[in-house]
Amino acid sequence: MGYWHNNPMHTFFYPGHIEHDPAKIHRPDDAQWNRYYAEVAVRGQILHDAIQAANLGPITHPGDFGLSPIQDVHAHEMINLLQNAYEQMKLEMGREVAIPETFSLRPRSRRHHYSVFGQLGFYCFDTSSPIFAPTWNAAYWSVQTAVSATALLLANQAANMQTAVYALCRPPGHHAAADQFGGFCYLNNVAIAANWLVQQGQRVAILDVDYHHGNGTQEIFYGRSDVLFVSIHADPRYEYPYYWGFADEYGYGSGYGFNHNLPLPPGTQGPAYLSALIKALTHIRAFVPDTLLISLGVDTGQGDPTGTFLLETPDFFEMGRQIGSLGLPTAVIQEGGYRLDTLGQHVTAFLTGLQTASTPEISPRT
Ligand SMILES: [Zn+2]
Repeated sequence: MGYWHNNPMHTFFYPGHIEHDPAKIHRPDDAQWNRYYAEVAVRGQILHDAIQAANLGPITHPGDFGLSPIQDVHAHEMINLLQNAYEQMKLEMGREVAIPETFSLRPRSRRHHYSVFGQLGFYCFDTSSPIFAPTWNAAYWSVQTAVSATALLLANQAANMQTAVYALCRPPGHHAAADQFGGFCYLNNVAIAANWLVQQGQRVAILDVDYHHGNGTQEIFYGRSDVLFVSIHADPRYEYPYYWGFADEYGYGSGYGFNHNLPLPPGTQGPAYLSALIKALTHIRAFVPDTLLISLGVDTGQGDPTGTFLLETPDFFEMGRQIGSLGLPTAVIQEGGYRLDTLGQHVTAFLTGLQTASTPEISPRT
């Protein structure tokens, strides 16, 4: 006879993220722009409150792992730009926000650009990641949130505790590549955490279940065999980020076979989504990772302003349960999810499903 030992799930959260709120800072009275800008700061508060209400476990401030995990993944010039673009834009143009005005269409030759627009056009691939005064700080701590979660995961593993950890990251990260940012993202939280884990000797699998393809994460690990990337997302022929995420992108060089995309048509419902998930888990099992990182976007939920999928709350619970059944130490990194009235319940359903499945059954000894 066994009983369920209720393992609490640790959440890392940086409250200062709230200062980075593009919808509020930039054109606060422009309803059209604000409808378009779905990545609002209140998302972080909603998720925090939902985790607290669901009583999943402690919520703590992330530790500071410094710049070096970021520098190990991203181009140093891009990091400098994210740190300095706001001030430089103010100085050069008198503007309070840094958004590109042109894009250096690739292939392009690499030069040092002195003007802020020249740099923005080089390192940014769209107009949805504006840089304001508080942006760098929020992006930096979003990374620390993800790295803190993976560090705790490692410590738990050493103590033979197979628990899941949640990184309540904001802004999200999976669209940010090594030297290009965009899509509400600045620094790639999950990729930095995965790379940090590799440096600690871990074999890492990343499963991206955000509605949009994680093009940045794919690009960062595309030539590598030490990190598996598997993504389920909307078919890029219909959806953002449009130019990445096709089923025939398997990786290159020694990374060939370590990238798997499972694009799904617009309007995908729970059952079809869950069968894609079963396929994704097959790839992960075959890779035999030490740890699993989940890029969790709940913009696959019905009625999300950025998506067309029709997942409902029980589907998120089932996703968590299926992923938890792998029995792997798992860190969940928050990505998208923009329908504010269901955001909290979708994420807590996923985490509860994961926790239910990954809680070890303990048999009392006599
Ligand atoms: Zn998304």
